[in-house]
Amino acid sequence: MAIATFEKLHNEQQALTYDQRIRYVKVMAKAFSLGCFLLILLSITGYIFSAPQLYRPLLNGAATNPLTALSVIFISLTVLLQQKKISKYIKPIFSLLSLVISSTIIFDNYFNTDLARHITPFQAVINNEHKLGLSNSMGINTAIMLACLSLSMIFTSLNKKITSQLLAFIGMAVPMLSIIGYAYGISNFFGEMSILTTTYGLLLALSVLCINADSGAVYALLSPHIGGRIARFQVMLGYVVPVLIGYLFIKTIVSSEVEDLFGLYVVIISWFIIILIISSAIIQERVDEKRRIAEFALLKAATHDSLTGLANRRRFMDLAEKEIGNSKSKENPSCLLMVDIDHFKLVNDKAGHLVGDKVLIEIAKKLAMNVRKTDLVCRLGGEEFAILLPSTDKSGAHRIAEKIRTEIEQTHIEGYTDIYSNVTASIGVSEVTQTEKVDYIISNADKALYTAKETGRNKVVVYEGD
Ligand code: GH3
Ligand code: MG
Ligand code: MG
Repeated sequence: MAIATFEKLHNEQQALTYDQRIRYVKVMAKAFSLGCFLLILLSITGYIFSAPQLYRPLLNGAATNPLTALSVIFISLTVLLQQKKISKYIKPIFSLLSLVISSTIIFDNYFNTDLARHITPFQAVINNEHKLGLSNSMGINTAIMLACLSLSMIFTSLNKKITSQLLAFIGMAVPMLSIIGYAYGISNFFGEMSILTTTYGLLLALSVLCINADSGAVYALLSPHIGGRIARFQVMLGYVVPVLIGYLFIKTIVSSEVEDLFGLYVVIISWFIIILIISSAIIQERVDEKRRIAEFALLKAATHDSLTGLANRRRFMDLAEKEIGNSKSKENPSCLLMVDIDHFKLVNDKAGHLVGDKVLIEIAKKLAMNVRKTDLVCRLGGEEFAILLPSTDKSGAHRIAEKIRTEIEQTHIEGYTDIYSNVTASIGVSEVTQTEKVDYIISNADKALYTAKETGRNKVVVYEGD
């Protein structure tokens, strides 16, 4: 397979894009949590300083209950602490506290008790508001959502990221249900969450979901590879299509009971489709990742030298051809260095083949360390290396070659230089001029190298023409 095809398949750029996306989404997750944390803290100060507009923005509208506020604070804190280096036992504490709060509300609703009153801060304020006929309590929807998100963060702390994402998805369905209620204009749709709690809920659920962007569903959805692209498109359709069709149908329904059930049906159907798509995306991403790793290993084997890790002759010829094509002008000359270790046969003869290999590895490292990122170093074969220096003229290349020669001479190689002698190399330099092919440039550098060998070795010779 041609190298160009290999590179297209591997696509290093896509791997970088993937990492960047994951990092970006994780930062977004934290930003969402920080936003929720700060806004809800503002609501709490409303209770502290008797400023009801901070927790009830619309006069006589829905209020943020202190327990809801505490729960949101605990969950967002858990998200914000996720990547911090603190004890793994501390991390789930906040989400456990939030779970206790939401479970108490669920328990109260189910068994008709009033336990929440005993753990609600600012109970006196709430009692007063109740007397005035104002509602201020955590609804069952909110409690279910916060319980799911707390559990999700507990599983994150236990490193069970897929379970965590599943719970976050279930939690996110609650504000989505509320959004459908608002969008379809169904009054009192499943307990009707306030628009404020819906927004908090959605942001917090997204934050909890995305903090594990490096695995599971979010990871699969972010993939820049074909699986991810298909999954993103399907998720969008899987949500938008049932919601739009539902919207058209709901207009023809007269009974409010059927309206409610129909709204619920739409949410369940779209959520079901999304979960199906995401689970297949997770599987596909895993299979595709294995394929990409195998492909990369093949690409690496075909283009790199296994002993030194440098590019091999094949890759060098391919990249040099492109680079030389770019620099066939006097204003932007390139140079080629041919480096050949002196009397390397003697190294093998004196110290053995294994030490010879070690010498090659150390010299390769030295070469790679002494060039710029844009330069191309390769092992052409045996003890011969080539270095392409783009945007470098003859005198610049001479300087670099001289530096490399001295570095090689000073390299300490345990098991050889300490027992025998220093390793030296001869270097031939040739400039890339117009209309020349790589082979021709290599042969010019080779001629200079030959002169260096003939005239005593351990020296740099620049090719000045025949
Ligand atoms: P000169 O100074 O003229 O370049 O002499 P030289 O001995 O370096 O050159 P020659 O081409 O005669 O010998 C190269 C030696 O490099 C012969 C070969 O055994 C050895 N060699 C080639 N590839 C490897 C390798 O991968 N590992 C080891 N240890 N030796 C290698
Ligand atoms: Mg040699
Ligand atoms: Mg040689």
